[in-house]
This record gives sequence, C-alpha cells and structure tokens, in this order.
Amino acid sequence: MELVFATGNAHKAAEAQQILRGRMPGVNVLTFDGESPVESGTSFLENALIKARAAHKATGKPAFADDSGISVEVMGGAPGIFSAIWSGTRDDQINRDLLLAQLEDIPMEHRGAAFVCTVALVSDDAEVSFTGIWSGSIALQAAGDGGFGYDPVFVPEGFSETAAELDPEVKNSMSHRFLAMQQMASYLEENS
Ligand code: IMP
Repeated sequence: MELVFATGNAHKAAEAQQILRGRMPGVNVLTFDGESPVESGTSFLENALIKARAAHKATGKPAFADDSGISVEVMGGAPGIFSAIWSGTRDDQINRDLLLAQLEDIPMEHRGAAFVCTVALVSDDAEVSFTGIWSGSIALQAAGDGGFGYDPVFVPEGFSETAAELDPEVKNSMSHRFLAMQQMASYLEENS
C-alpha cells in the first residue's frame, strides 16, 4: 500500500517515517512536496484537510497531512495554528525567542502548554482525522539542539529536559505526532 504524506517540512517527514515504519511496515510512505495550498483554515483540522485534499487531488493516491503547533494555556491556546509564523517570520529561533519573551514574567507553575497535531487522511472513499496532544510546559530558557520548532522550549510532562534534549526515538514514541499517527495506523488496519 502507498500513502502520500503532504509536507514540505523535512523534520516532520523524518518523524513520520520513523513513527509509521515501526507500526505499518507494509506501507510505503511517499513524501509529496508540491505547491503548498494557502492554509486559510481557522483550526488544525481545517488546515490539515486543505493540505491532504490538495495532495490527494495532485497524486490520485490516499494522502495525509498534519497541521500542528503549540498551545500555551496562559495565552488562551496561542500560538496554536499560527505557531509556524508566530513572529511574522518562519524562523524557528525568532519564534521561540518571542514566545519566551511573552512569558518572561510567568512562573513555572503557570507555564502549562501542549503540542497538538491533527492528521487528516483523504482518499477516494473517505475523509477522516486524528488528533494527538502532548502535554508539558514552556521552559524558562531554551535548551538542546535536537528536533525542530519549539522543541528547545517544551518540557514534556514527566521529564526535566526539553524535547530537543530527548533522543528522537523517545520523542517519536510519545509525541503529539506519534499519538495522531498511531490512531491513523489503527484506522488503516481496520479499514483496508
Ligand atoms: P505547520 O507546518 O503549519 O503544521 O506548522 C507547525 C509549526 O508548529 C512548526 O513550524 C513548529 O513551529 C510547530 N511544531 C509542530 N510540531 C512540532 C514539534 O514536534 N516540535 C516543535 N515544534 C513543532
């Protein structure tokens, strides 16, 4: 079986390959990096659907896309769907620095946050979606050079180090992307 993953993000592609290889060895995951549709949705689900539909239309194969981001409790869920361009740029470090500056006066006990990932899967037969949530908090300062995006400022629940300090295997066995893709794998097992 072939599945198309619509993403231009090499980090997401590598994580998805690692997550799905273990769970669905018979599935060949192809990365589709076509022209990006405008992400005009107002939720993770709407944006994931826009990307998955575009990839399905372009390739004719079952396609999935993820829309993801970080939601900070004290910020009412922001940056949320604007995580990738929170500072008005797509520069991960500038986005992280802005988030840390916005939370400068907030003590550790009020820095709760979660990574959210919604995966939409679009085929000729159905459109379905799956959401994974990885809870934790925003560190007082950045640490670690693994992962991408907000990993250096996100401390997962039950850990004292940031996601960027974890082995990729550890992150990819518990992350929001892992949780959403596990649900997709179960759906595919039951429906193919
Ligand atoms: P998207 O490509 O529009 O879904 O934007 C996702 C953005 O959310 C990324 O650019 C990162 O800033 C952030 N993000 C999503 N998942 C992760 C993750 O696993 N680690 C760190 N940052 C993430």
